[in-house]
Amino acid sequence: MTSGATLRELIVGVDIGGTKTAILVTEPDGSVRVRQVAPTAVGAPNRAADSIASLVQAALDAAGATPDDVAALGVGVPGRVERQTGQVTLAVNLDWHDLPLGPRLEARLGIPTFVENDVRAAALGLHRRRLFGSVESLALLAIGTGISAGVVLDGRLHRGSLGLAGEIGHVVIDPDGPRCACGNSGCFEAVAAGPAIVARTRAGWAARRNGHADTTAGLHGDRAVDAEGVFAAAAAGDEVARDILESTGKAVAWGIHLLALAYDVERIVLGGGVSHAGEPFIAPIRRELDRYRAVSPLAAEVLRPDLLELLPPGSDAGAWGAVTIARDALSRDRNPASPGQERVVGHA
Ligand SMILES: [Zn+2]
Repeated sequence: MTSGATLRELIVGVDIGGTKTAILVTEPDGSVRVRQVAPTAVGAPNRAADSIASLVQAALDAAGATPDDVAALGVGVPGRVERQTGQVTLAVNLDWHDLPLGPRLEARLGIPTFVENDVRAAALGLHRRRLFGSVESLALLAIGTGISAGVVLDGRLHRGSLGLAGEIGHVVIDPDGPRCACGNSGCFEAVAAGPAIVARTRAGWAARRNGHADTTAGLHGDRAVDAEGVFAAAAAGDEVARDILESTGKAVAWGIHLLALAYDVERIVLGGGVSHAGEPFIAPIRRELDRYRAVSPLAAEVLRPDLLELLPPGSDAGAWGAVTIARDALSRDRNPASPGQERVVGHA
């Protein structure tokens, strides 16, 4: 069978990250025909749709397919999205404001396009692919440049009335903490996201240098250090870095406890760039959760032993989430009478 015979059956998912854009071209059975990763083109917002369309076109070329072979395109964006219109209201790290990304991609490619927040899309994808067991509720807590969660309840993505459900990065954890980009002080992400980990470590190193003779100053430097560098410094025995990662773990455990009590989900999956550090990242979190359990029977009940999972790096959760968003939207369109992802299921 040629690709021409499988007209409009492929599903394409695009995950636009802060630095990389991942694309999956998938078959009707869910298998991957082509996977591509390219640097995210951070050009002017008015060129964004053109550059994304070019990447999709290149992936289709590699797949031996054309836009006519594609049933739907899903796009995950790190920002606030109006799902019905495909409008990206605000994506701070991409400098996008009120960008009609969905309609522009549809106009350029001629493919029905569905845009969703990246973390929420990824959470739905994890659920659909049963990556962490056959559960009906889960939360993906993404810790990277910022912090946010995607929440799936009863098998459906929970967006909330404003599409902001899960934006717990801006819950205040420490009123006396660092200023946050949102205007508040001491937000969860101002304490525990990647840039916050780096800033707090650098401040700790500077204080150490100013306070007393520092035998390790200059060893790790604080030029161009990133969160990975903080983990490396801690592994090399740097006490400031160790303290910062310990307090970061406490903050993340607080966020997990918050999600567990707010949503009572069966799984909480940790993802995002910072989580790629793996065991050194999760160990202080587990210690703090154990402390919660030891003092509170309620915490012990809600923070069940199999609650926490770590998303393996390279799992393409964002791109799979985009595929899932497109696939769900398509099945709604094709079968509007069935209770789909967005449909309100009555209790009558
Ligand atoms: Zn904030």
